[in-house]
Amino acid sequence: MQYDELPIWSAKAAAWAAEYHATLRERPIRPNVTPGDFLKQIPTAPPQSAEPFENIFADFVKLVPDSMTHWQHPRFFAYFSSNASPASMLAEQLANAISAQCMLWQTSPAATELETAMIDWLRQALAIPDNFKGVIQDTATSSTLSAVLTMREKALDWRGIEEGLSGMPTLRIYASEQTHSSIDKAIRLAGIGQNNLVKVKTDSDWAMCPTSLQSAIETDRANGLVPAGIIGCIGGTSIGASDHLDQILKIAQQNNLYSHVDAAWAGSAMICPEFRSIWKGIEMADSIVFNPHKWLGANFDCSIQFLKEPKDQIKTLAIKPSYLETLEQDRIVNYSEWCIPLGRRFRALKLWFLIRSHGLNGLQEKIRNHIEWAGLAANEIEKLENFSIVTPPMFSLFTFRFEPPGHDADTKTRELIEAINADGRIYLTQTLHEGKFVIRFTIGQFDTEKPDVDMAISVIQELAKSLI
Ligand SMILES: *Cc1c(COP(=O)(O)O)cnc(C)c1O
Repeated sequence: MQYDELPIWSAKAAAWAAEYHATLRERPIRPNVTPGDFLKQIPTAPPQSAEPFENIFADFVKLVPDSMTHWQHPRFFAYFSSNASPASMLAEQLANAISAQCMLWQTSPAATELETAMIDWLRQALAIPDNFKGVIQDTATSSTLSAVLTMREKALDWRGIEEGLSGMPTLRIYASEQTHSSIDKAIRLAGIGQNNLVKVKTDSDWAMCPTSLQSAIETDRANGLVPAGIIGCIGGTSIGASDHLDQILKIAQQNNLYSHVDAAWAGSAMICPEFRSIWKGIEMADSIVFNPHKWLGANFDCSIQFLKEPKDQIKTLAIKPSYLETLEQDRIVNYSEWCIPLGRRFRALKLWFLIRSHGLNGLQEKIRNHIEWAGLAANEIEKLENFSIVTPPMFSLFTFRFEPPGHDADTKTRELIEAINADGRIYLTQTLHEGKFVIRFTIGQFDTEKPDVDMAISVIQELAKSLI
């Protein structure tokens, strides 16, 4: 394809996208495919000569959508939603047209400065104090890994990056049992070792127990181990649990430990002042991650890491070979020094389009609706015969179980979710909570309307009846 044909195909792609979104409700959310079905339709070898673009586009339309799970479906209540506002999709198209490598200021002045501006817009939107800066990363996994590496190096006085880890003291990092597996992954990859991630027990509200945290730190110190950092959780993935940041971040400060807060999903809800009491104490954090690519509407990928002292992370991650040096270095920011990859996409553009096209009011309204509807849905499910709510709505996530008398509840709940997902009208996923198999129900898709939630309740009720 040549550039002169781009407008034609781009218009066709946009028309397809609009039609796809307009008719999503009619599609089953998950495709009716088994592993390998799709692969069979793709030639095993690449074409030797160029193919007409008509054929390529036609094959996309014919083959791909019917073999995809539709994350933008308004009745997607599984995992956490991964919204893609049309404004952010369009920004992505324009960023692709320029396709710059946004590693240094001089390779991408507007992208770099727009990134600084968008970080500050979001900092204000989330009511994070103005002494925080930040960087856009691809995922929370990368943001957390960056924070854990900084934690490690700060504890080792930056000797790890120079000398390697062999012979270094054993570091310890503390997080609750409710934190996401990306924390475990970061600890493993940072060379700290899974066994040195201390999973602190939680209290009855599933928040990390502060006294257990304090005593774990003291015991480790007494045993010659070196506490390095604390990872707090706001809106955990399993049931939406949150730690009491004011208590645990105070312990981090008192013990001189680096702290990171994982608010990958629930961070977006902090744009609404009425939910912010949950992160009282956030100003004590050193690093905070939240993903605008989940609830806020920036299409994947887009993760924000706020940093109180960027210099600690830069000291850990930056490498400056002479071919990357920029003259007048002190007046500029080179964001590749704040994260692991050198090459970086122009992700700030989709935030700029997203925030301006919805306004904070528009985004707040969506999140408020989701949280309100989740509360109503939990009430409805509680009223159904043989159902119980296992964990109450936290933001817009709750879990429930199907417990008809005379049956094993784990088995029946599993049968129910299998029936729901085979049916295709709604999509839910499960988790194991305190040893029990439970179904997660989370509302967060931008196009979800109240009738979609009502339909979910009827589908659950209808399919449950068929199982007894
Ligand atoms: C989704 C999620 C993550 C992982 O996010 P990625 O951006 O996919 O790496 C981490 N923590 C929490 C709490 C999450 O919900």
